[in-house]
Amino acid sequence: MTAQPPPGEGLSLADVVAALEAERADATAQVRELERVVAGVVEASRDSNADDEHDPEGATIAFERAQAIAVRDRQLARLREVDAALDRVADGAFGRCERCGCEIAPGRLLARPTSTTCVTCAALR
Ligand SMILES: [Zn+2]
Repeated sequence: MTAQPPPGEGLSLADVVAALEAERADATAQVRELERVVAGVVEASRDSNADDEHDPEGATIAFERAQAIAVRDRQLARLREVDAALDRVADGAFGRCERCGCEIAPGRLLARPTSTTCVTCAALR
């Protein structure tokens, strides 16, 4: 059982949690929207009976679908980062660099609440 690290100067844990919750809501909404795009494009592709290799329209549909899937996957990764950050808040590890254990600068956490490393360690990666 570790004590909650005192929030740094100008950093309120409640604000961070609010920012994380907002980010999670945004990412969730985008994933839902992209799932619809992916599903819709799949439907269109089936209707047009397109051959991806020879029909230019089929290739475009396949490309758009691949794009939507790529963006959705990025949003899903963002969701996992946000959830991991909320977990760190819950267990008191939030705000500590997972590499060197030092405190992550409050400014960095405010700008990017999902940060898991301090600026120094991030630069080393
Ligand atoms: Zn570090």
